[in-house]
Parts: sequence; structure tokens; C-alpha cells
Amino acid sequence: MKCLLLLIFAAKSLTVPYKLQFDNEKVFRITPQNKEEVDFIKHLATVTELNFWTPQSLSHLIPNITVDFHANAEDSATIISLLEQKRIDYRIIFQNLQEAIENQFDKDKHKQKDRLLRSSRYHTWEELAAWAHHVSVKYPKLVSLVPIGKTYEGRPMHVLKVGNKVTSKKGIVLECGAHAREWISPAFCKWFVTKAIKAYNKDKDMTNLLDSVMFHVIPVFNIDGYVWTWTHNRMWRKNRSPSPNSKCIGTDLNRNFNIAWQAAYDKKNPCSDIYPGSGPESEMETKAITSYIRDNVSSLKAYLSLHAYGQMLMYPYGYTVKKPSNQKKLEEIASSAVKALSRLYGTQYTYGPIASTIYLVTGSSVDWVYDEGVKYSFAIELRDKGTYGFLLPEDQIKPTCMETMLAVKEIASFVINLES
Ligand SMILES: [Zn+2]
Repeated sequence: MKCLLLLIFAAKSLTVPYKLQFDNEKVFRITPQNKEEVDFIKHLATVTELNFWTPQSLSHLIPNITVDFHANAEDSATIISLLEQKRIDYRIIFQNLQEAIENQFDKDKHKQKDRLLRSSRYHTWEELAAWAHHVSVKYPKLVSLVPIGKTYEGRPMHVLKVGNKVTSKKGIVLECGAHAREWISPAFCKWFVTKAIKAYNKDKDMTNLLDSVMFHVIPVFNIDGYVWTWTHNRMWRKNRSPSPNSKCIGTDLNRNFNIAWQAAYDKKNPCSDIYPGSGPESEMETKAITSYIRDNVSSLKAYLSLHAYGQMLMYPYGYTVKKPSNQKKLEEIASSAVKALSRLYGTQYTYGPIASTIYLVTGSSVDWVYDEGVKYSFAIELRDKGTYGFLLPEDQIKPTCMETMLAVKEIASFVINLES
């Protein structure tokens, strides 16, 4: 097995041959002070080609919200001159996006030797798939690899079940990598599984946890999109399925669930980064997850959907400002989870319902599973708050995962104490 892993790993070079380069492309940050400035950004988006990092859509733009967008090199000069003419405050958070993409990888040669087995590195899908197979073979009593379907491009999807197969009764889902460019999310799922299985029978807390809870880990939900971010476009978000009658590719999987589907925004525009698909569960990846959840719903108690960036821990609903029935409890758990998270490095998270903490989101996984009966459902936006955004350097994987682990353990310990 080791040989197989090494072969797969050795086949991958450290320098990634991106077809799409971002030389001299810039990322701007603006906090519009009033409606005029909001309208001006919307106008900019019609005369130049902007890729919004946060919020993800023009429809979410309101005064005083932080807006990060990426512009190509030619448009950047125009944007700077227009912003200066209008006297709108702005910052350029990346002067040269290509450089930031390359700097994401730790270049310390010393650390590269066994980098592919390290959890504090970013990994390609092939590496993650080989790793998942490897842990299921090496830890058969604790880990099983359950096939759940295929992606649009035919890649097999799996859930890694991690827990004591005999005693663990309550289930918690960790869903990572719905959005392709949010690499820290799959990195966390790998970290979690690795640390959990190594700590079993050594660390009392983790042993208790895995004896009671079965973790259902989806290391990468949007596999095709993730592969695309490694091979073609680092900034890709959606999956890779084509849309009828459009040259634009991809559906936002976290808008494709059957909950208030298509109720808001950019709904008919397949070129939008938040295109919800041609129908609820239209995507093979979404269908694979929803049928797995439906099959296991009676044992599932909590669902965690991990994203980046923004440092937020949120609970339903996203599609409405209506409060869920157990809102008080959710607020209490979120509050103690962010407190636990901050203990290690002082990292501050905000928390609350999705709709009021970030913005209205329809068709998301956490809202859908909540209404299916998984009443402790959370969306987590990991580090950071935009210094590196989607390009969090590898040296932040370990601290990010260590602190996030504390929040997950806090939520899990609540689940253990649930009566049924
Ligand atoms: Zn996301």
C-alpha cells in the first residue's frame, strides 16, 4: 500500500501547471459607504469583468459590507482610475494574484520530503483519494469507505465513516469542499480524520468521542471543481456540469439543495458563481449526498458544512430570517463552540443565523438537512477574514485545523449528551 501511495504521490509535481495564469491581476477591497457607492460597484461590474470573492453575488451588495473582488490586469488600471475619480476608498489586497497563488505553498525544501503524507499541506484530489483508501485499510476497525455515487465527470464519491463501529450510535456529518477554491475545507476534513484515528486509544477525550459518535466525513463534496482548481483555474467555485443553452459551466452545489430552491438571486444565469442549477438536486454530487443523508437520517444528529473564508459559525436558516424552532439551543452551542475555538490562538469568530450573519442563501445543505430532521446543523466559514482569503498559506493549515477541532469537539460533546 505504501508503495502505491508513494507512486501516486510521486507522480504529482509540486509546481502546478495552471493553464489560467493570474499575472498582475488584482484583488480589491471596498467597503461602500452608501447606496451611490454600492451602485458604482455594480456599474463597475457591468463595464469590467469582476470575480466577486465576497459577497459572492452583486445581489448581496449593501452599504457597509466588505466587498472583495478580483479583476484582470487590464481592467485593474481602469478600476483604479475610476475609483480615484469618484473618491471611493479602496485597498488592493493582492497586487499580483499569481504570486499569491504560488506563495500559498510552503517552499521549505526540508519539509517537502514527506509533504504528501502531511496533513499540514494542501493535497490534490488523487492524493486525497489514495489517502482515504489507505486509512480505511490501515484502520479497519475505525474507518470505512462508503461509496455514495459519482460526480458529473465520473469520479467516485465516498463518505469516510470514522468511529467505533460497535458502540458509536449518533452520527455527525462533516461536509468539506462544496466550493472548489476553498482549499482549507478539505484540508480540515483530512486533518480531522488523521488526528481522530491516531488519538483513538491514546487520548481519553477522542476515544470517548469515537466510541459514541460516528463521523460521516465527506472529504471533498465538489470533486470535479476541486480538480479544476488544481489543473486549470485556482479561483473556480462551482462544479463542472454544463448548462443547457449556455456556454457557462457549473452549478453552485450549495445552492442546489431542495430548500427554497431558486427563490433568490441570479437564478437564471448559468454564468453566475451562485447558479443554483436547472432544478433542485439537479446535480449528481448533490443527489449522492442527499440520498446518503436520507438513508442515514435516523442516526444523524449534527451536520457541519465547512467553507472559507470569514471566520463565522452559523446555523439555520439561510433562506429566511424566520427562526428555527431550537434557535436558543443552536445559539448556545454556537457561542460555546466559538469560545472553545478562540482558546488556542484567540481567533475571533462571529456566530448566528446564516441569513443575518452573512446574507440570504437559498438551497443550502445546512437548511435542507435541518428540515430533514438533523437539528444541529452548522455552516462554518474558516480562516481568515480576507488577508489571504481563498489563498490561505499552508503554514496556516495546522493552526486553523487545531482551533477548528476544538469547535467540532464542543459541538460533538453536546451531541453525545443528547438523550436520543
Ligand atoms: Zn463556500
